[in-house]
Amino acid sequence: MIEVSLYRMEMYVVALLLILTNLLYTFVQNRTDKPQNKFFIAVNGIVLTNIITSVIAEYAKAQSTVSNYAFILRNIMEYLYFIVHAMLCPLFAMYVVYAVGKRQHQVWHRNLMFGGLLIITEFIAVSNPITGWVYCFDAERNFHRCWGVYSIYLAAAFYYFYAAVTLFSAWNALTKKRRVSMLYFFLVVMFGVVIQMLNSQIRSELFSEALGLLGVMIAVENEDDRIDVNTGFCNRKALLTDINSHIINHRKLTVLNIRITNPEIVQRVTGTTNMDILSDIVADYLKSVIPRYQIYNVSPASIILTLVDKQTEKAMELAERISRRFRLPFEFTGAEILLNTVVIKADIPDELKSAEDVLSMADQSLPKHNTKSLLTGEDLSYLLRRTAVEEAISRGITEHTFEVYYQPTYHIKGKLHGAEALIRLHDRVIGNVFPDEFIPVAEQMGMIDIIDNFVFSEVCRFLLSGIPETFHMDCINVNLSVMHCMQPDFLQQINQIAEKFDIDKRCINFEITESIAASDYGLLSSIVNVLKSEGYQFSMDDYGTGYSNIESIFSLDFDVVKIDKSILWNAEKSELGRIVLENTVHMVRQMHRKILVEGVETSEQISLLDTLGVDYLQGYFFSRPIPKDDFVAYIRKSS
Ligand code: C2E
Ligand code: CA
Ligand code: CA
Repeated sequence: MIEVSLYRMEMYVVALLLILTNLLYTFVQNRTDKPQNKFFIAVNGIVLTNIITSVIAEYAKAQSTVSNYAFILRNIMEYLYFIVHAMLCPLFAMYVVYAVGKRQHQVWHRNLMFGGLLIITEFIAVSNPITGWVYCFDAERNFHRCWGVYSIYLAAAFYYFYAAVTLFSAWNALTKKRRVSMLYFFLVVMFGVVIQMLNSQIRSELFSEALGLLGVMIAVENEDDRIDVNTGFCNRKALLTDINSHIINHRKLTVLNIRITNPEIVQRVTGTTNMDILSDIVADYLKSVIPRYQIYNVSPASIILTLVDKQTEKAMELAERISRRFRLPFEFTGAEILLNTVVIKADIPDELKSAEDVLSMADQSLPKHNTKSLLTGEDLSYLLRRTAVEEAISRGITEHTFEVYYQPTYHIKGKLHGAEALIRLHDRVIGNVFPDEFIPVAEQMGMIDIIDNFVFSEVCRFLLSGIPETFHMDCINVNLSVMHCMQPDFLQQINQIAEKFDIDKRCINFEITESIAASDYGLLSSIVNVLKSEGYQFSMDDYGTGYSNIESIFSLDFDVVKIDKSILWNAEKSELGRIVLENTVHMVRQMHRKILVEGVETSEQISLLDTLGVDYLQGYFFSRPIPKDDFVAYIRKSS
């Protein structure tokens, strides 16, 4: 019967199981490609080797006084143990350096200090058979530690300290969860080492290392909270933490934003409405040009790639290469899909300052008349404009610099019909901003309800003044963003304002632009019906542009259809344009809706529209949108 210390074995068995668990999970979840992963595996490998050598040494020890083979075996195991163990702390320090994103082009004296010390300790360990610096056996084959052991421990303490300093100096580069588990590792390992130092009979060191690594694996290595399961790309949250970490560590960073401008193609080609498929289509290609952990899925049609410490020309080359590839179709389940893309390249911190800037670039709509497939440098000025507009909107709300203008509408025979309320923003920093520019931004900022409600309130105030009634105006038109109408408390907001001013609801005509997916018609139409039953009128705005859907005129109960100015203007340009105008008017008349044509600028247009039989007119021919007082003066003069 071999006599070995059982409780030591228990420690080793548990440590072994922990390490095997770490390695198993790491490999099963394919977390092997980042440098950080590789160091994690190496550290686990070292602890594993140390456990194995310790167990064998333990068994050999029991026999070593009677068997020469056992003695030699023990000798070899102790030897291996020290050689391998000396590498543990340096590798762990490297792991921490990568995990916090601190890897940089190291300066030579740091490399020398880091590598030099390891070389010295390894030399001390490797030379032991000749020098006996680390350990030796006496004539009775009893094991004795020598000074070399302490030098190895001292070096380990240095690396341990180095890792701790690295962790603290990049404290904010890790999420809280990851910081805490790193700290846990340090404390657990320290505890285990100190216990074993105080009583070498208690083999707690390897166990505490294995346990600490388990904690690190669960919290630091685990990527479940960072990864999009479908594509294996990182998610928005990961983008924020990673970019913040690069900024904190003063790394030079270039981001490429791939924007797919025809996302609807997925639906057309594959028949599914699942937009996540978009990133699936390009996943393999992108992973072939850049490691997967540098690809972020911000939204189905917007992907970010991060290039760290890359030279500008290299980043540009890659951007061009990607842009070229996207001009060719992608294969997806047998179908060929041609994605229209724009690649945006921006440097941090020169062009974008923060992780939030990167996200807002990725979410923001592209410049209106963009024809380029690659945007860099000067092209990015639209991002600055966008930020400036966002700031102007916020200022507009707090400083009350929004103003409602009015543009009159007329009966076809010339009598005043009403007016459309149109918002203006007079900003002290960037001057006057027009709604075509700031309304979409306000919609994305989630502030459109504030603007719409402001306009509605101002119009109620105007109605209460009695002026519209004096001039026999039928109604005043108020624009509503569909995004606002879809808010759950939209009806309450409207009612609250209407009650506050106690207006005659029949004098309000809400305009909405039908630009939403068919699936939302149900909700929109029930909202329209509720408001109509209370007396409000409704107009369909911009009919004939983009999304127009004949069905929706039927499904939504509009009183008036406003034909977009482009239809009128095209009618003067070509025969085809004229046919479109005539037939549009015809069709809407047959649906028994009133027709308003906007963009009327000339008397020729008026006679044309008169012969076609439209009901109302609006346009610069009569007046541009003007401030309320000017508007009142205008109608007074022309009445
Ligand atoms: P819209 O509702 O189609 O408004 C008509 C736009 O056409 C106005 O531009 C008006 O100034 C312009 N317009 C009218 N007659 C003529 C003409 O004869 N010739 C030309 N060239 N243009 C004419 P504006 O005021 O810049 O408004 C742009 C868009 O901003 C509006 O288009 C509307 O979609 C949106 N908008 C304006 N005010 C509000 C608001 O209070 N709430 C919401 N949600 N959107 C608003
Ligand atoms: Ca309108
Ligand atoms: Ca319009």
